[in-house]
Amino acid sequence: MTIAFLGLGNMGGPMAANLVKAGERVVGYDPVPAAREVATSNGIVGAGSIAAAVTGADVVITMLPSGAHVLECYREVVPVVAPGALFLDCSTIDVADARDAAALAVKAGHHAVDAPVSGGVVGAEAATLTFMIGGPEAAVQRAEPILQAMGARLVPCGDSGAGQAAKICNNMILGISMIAVSEAFALGQSLGLSDQALFDVASTASGQCWALTTNCPVPGPVPTSPANRDYAGGFASGLMLKDLRLAQSAADAGDVPAALGRKAAELYGVFVQEDGPGRDFSAIVTSLRGDRND
Ligand code: NAD
Repeated sequence: MTIAFLGLGNMGGPMAANLVKAGERVVGYDPVPAAREVATSNGIVGAGSIAAAVTGADVVITMLPSGAHVLECYREVVPVVAPGALFLDCSTIDVADARDAAALAVKAGHHAVDAPVSGGVVGAEAATLTFMIGGPEAAVQRAEPILQAMGARLVPCGDSGAGQAAKICNNMILGISMIAVSEAFALGQSLGLSDQALFDVASTASGQCWALTTNCPVPGPVPTSPANRDYAGGFASGLMLKDLRLAQSAADAGDVPAALGRKAAELYGVFVQEDGPGRDFSAIVTSLRGDRND
């Protein structure tokens, strides 16, 4: 089996490397020469173009920045690959784009699965990603052994687009809950409550959630949270903003009010303008508390 891997960036690079470690033949393409160089040093066969990468491929995996990139790629690749190929898109994109991309592939006699991930770069490197999977059962079954080489948990969510839907719904919860936790730390501080005292109560009471107990936005209570290293690493604010905007556009298309999701997207939009897209999304607490001093 030959796997073509398009998009060898922060996530795609290590994911493709894990397929090689699992014994697969992987031909990769990325327009950035440095990304191709790293990939070839990890055993991926470098290709000079999309067409060269996908010729003769049984499986085409995409890990690209946006739905526009994925659709553009599918338009180029779908006619070139022999019918019956499996298209696996692991990018985080709009649900409607995911369904359009899958339809393009299926119409030409291919199989298509959307399988966005959570777990970040660390999970991509360690092959511990969670895949949220959408697509017809037969295609999903064919995708599973390939995804297992790159991840630790596969969650079938339904038909085409369902993986993307699950991802953006989850991340809408996450964005809103991080803001809720951060506002509580802001209010606690103004009331003279220490961060530790608030944590000790809320982390074992009804306020507990992942944003508090694992990714605690203030330094101290959870030593492993990004707050303790000036918000380096973790899940970047720019990616959170992207996912909240995807959730918003899906909510708008479906006439779902999602008022808190909308507000979260707005607050992250302001925060990314102030702070840049790179730090962990829990850094929003510094803006909500007004204690940015960098
Ligand atoms: P990235 O920007 O590091 O990588 C994307 C790569 O795609 C780039 O190297 C770019 O050159 C390449 N590319 C662009 N157009 C291409 C084309 N036509 N053919 C081949 N390659 C092309 O981004 P990333 O962090 O690897 O994220 C990829 C996807 O995964 C995004 O959709 C992102 O939302 C999602 N994601 C990222 C994370 C994370 O923590 N980084 C976590 C979960 C999901």
